[in-house]
Amino acid sequence: MTAAPEQIDVLDEAREQVLERGVGLSQEQVLKVLELPDDRIPELLELAHQVRERWCGPEVEVEGIVSLKTGGCPEDCHFCSQSGQFPSPVRSAWLDIPGLVRAARQTRETGATEFCIVAAVRGPDKRLLSQVRDGIKAIREDGNDIQIACSLGMLTQEQVDELVAMGVHRYNHNLETARSHFPNVVTTHSWEERWDTLKMIRDAGMEVCCGGIIGMGESLEQRAEFAVQLAELEPDEVPLNFLIPNPGTPYENYPVVEGAEALRTVGAFRLALPRTILRFAGGRELTFGDLGAKQGMLGGINAIIVGNYLTNLGRPAQQDLDMLEELSMPIKALSQTL
Ligand code: SF4
Repeated sequence: MTAAPEQIDVLDEAREQVLERGVGLSQEQVLKVLELPDDRIPELLELAHQVRERWCGPEVEVEGIVSLKTGGCPEDCHFCSQSGQFPSPVRSAWLDIPGLVRAARQTRETGATEFCIVAAVRGPDKRLLSQVRDGIKAIREDGNDIQIACSLGMLTQEQVDELVAMGVHRYNHNLETARSHFPNVVTTHSWEERWDTLKMIRDAGMEVCCGGIIGMGESLEQRAEFAVQLAELEPDEVPLNFLIPNPGTPYENYPVVEGAEALRTVGAFRLALPRTILRFAGGRELTFGDLGAKQGMLGGINAIIVGNYLTNLGRPAQQDLDMLEELSMPIKALSQTL
């Protein structure tokens, strides 16, 4: 009788493939990582941290985010409290240009290099684009050199070109979840429509920021599928969110992703995406608390948003900046990103 071939440990494989050669894990390998037992999480996080140091460097990118238009979105993304289709308590509101300039200045003062202007829309109309244009002009006239990103939903080629002309250097558009799970999360537009916008952004030379939300009823297989679909896109940045079960949304009773599972996910995504900026986005306070946030920073994350998220309060900026100092992680300076 011949002995069964010995199973190669996925973290040993990752050490050689991802750490040494910079090649992200395959879907099958990511799944194995997501299935690792809890007692192997410290080893996973250590490896993920080494991978991020080796392929991205020690700096952490600090970013600010502001909502130019909040709530009242016609789409039905089931996790989103800004959808006008659910009875969530978020009201539709616009921020004026002086408010935008103030937010950008406060963000820059934290040492952040990136300021993302967000609107809750299917895609921008003429009014929104002209607000963005005027806003960017006013931020520059204020003497603020922060890099500007936008997140304004799905775009046409003409709108992509307009944003490039305005000097927007990065665009956020999340795929949110695996292609196979997307129809369970959104019915008013398709994963492919989002993908098409991302391709146009990439082809126009803007940086691509694309991530999603963990904990929306997807299986571990679908989490692995999502990680490799993101890797195929080769995004410059991946914001990783954990579901906040917002009141009034269809997911209001979904359980919060628990800490160990979230850390395994952070590690697995880093091993699938060795070179990307991996950002802790919404939901981390709920999932991790203070201690876990540090573990995540030591487990492959290299960007954070300071201050408030869009509709859920994040932690005060100073607390995050103190955490980076405590961890001896340098903040990426603007000159390094140009
Ligand atoms: S398109 Fe954006 S703002 Fe609108 S419901 Fe979906 S996630 Fe929310």
